Amino acid sequence: MKVLITGGAGFIGSHFVKRMLDAEDIEHVTVLDALTYAGHRANLGRAFLSPRLTFVHGSICDAGLMHEVMRGHQAVVHFAAESHVDRSLTTAATFVETNVCGTQNLVDAAVRHGVERFVHVSTDEVYGPLLDGVAATEDFPLRPTVPYAASKAAGDLVARSAWHTYGLPVMVTRSSNNYGPCQHPEKIIPLFVTRLLRGEKVTLHGQGQHVRNWLHVEDNCAGVELVLRRGNPGEVYNLGGSTALTTKELTSLLLNICDADWDAVTYIEDRPSNDLRYAMDWSKAHKQLGYQPVRDFGDGLKETASWYRDNPDRWAPLTTSAVPAVPSLQIVPLNTSQEPQHV
Ligand code: NAD
Repeated sequence: MKVLITGGAGFIGSHFVKRMLDAEDIEHVTVLDALTYAGHRANLGRAFLSPRLTFVHGSICDAGLMHEVMRGHQAVVHFAAESHVDRSLTTAATFVETNVCGTQNLVDAAVRHGVERFVHVSTDEVYGPLLDGVAATEDFPLRPTVPYAASKAAGDLVARSAWHTYGLPVMVTRSSNNYGPCQHPEKIIPLFVTRLLRGEKVTLHGQGQHVRNWLHVEDNCAGVELVLRRGNPGEVYNLGGSTALTTKELTSLLLNICDADWDAVTYIEDRPSNDLRYAMDWSKAHKQLGYQPVRDFGDGLKETASWYRDNPDRWAPLTTSAVPAVPSLQIVPLNTSQEPQHV
């Protein structure tokens, strides 16, 4: 099987590329990545030594390139995306361009070249916030509340429509929050670890009560591989974990690991549409595919913090690309004297 992996120089994609190269039955891996601020060749590291890897620097927004690159591949695993919620609050159009239009280009090329397996990587955020005690199954309505999640929900539907319309064998994975080495330091775990390691303060939104479910990146990649190999076309698979924590609880663990205390924490106003709780029921992937996350969260978090402690050269240069502040909504009063007169 020749596999095209989009976004393979990003956090999750780069772990998945290495996993595919470790599998002997994978004949060739092509990575297609635009190398945005979030993509780095260094994430692929030893993968570049493999004669079974081809790297293409390009964008999924380039429809012509997608047709060229797709030729000869039996499978596609589509990770490429604008992925940071906070950035989507100020540059939503870029998210729609990549996550929706880019996905459409990729799907079109896959249909044209008769791709046999197409895995679209989506997220638990497409379900929107859930009440305590509720866990979304795959048939829950999609109720995204932020531009990032809305663009991912649209991409998710675009990909699945190609199954219904053209019979492209599309499988969708929706995973919860990933953590592990090589994640961009703008995301909460590496952000807090890198700041605490430098003796800087960290900020918690609101009262730190937002609940997120944490999944080690290798557990997610194992799930994506199961879906690639054994998933049923047209199906969606939730890939969740068993570690649900409020951001305050997560902060407490990180303070402990980084030898810091609560003096390092300041509380700031919550950001718009900060969903209070995500939760998924992932029993379908467990029962049908044997999906089962195995990483202990405490151990995984310590290993992750150690990776950042040991590899400052990998993240320090990235901490300068600050996320733009969210502009506050300005309500401009109508100047009624300039309103057109109705005849
Ligand atoms: P990431 O931001 O680390 O990586 C995204 C990669 O996509 C980067 O290498 C970037 O250069 C590339 N890219 C962006 N725009 C591109 C374009 N137009 N053409 C080609 N490449 C482009 O993201 P990640 O955390 O690794 O997430 C990967 C996927 O998993 C995304 O689709 C994301 O929505 C999804 N996901 C992530 C999480 C998480 O917790 N990180 C959870 C659920 C789902």
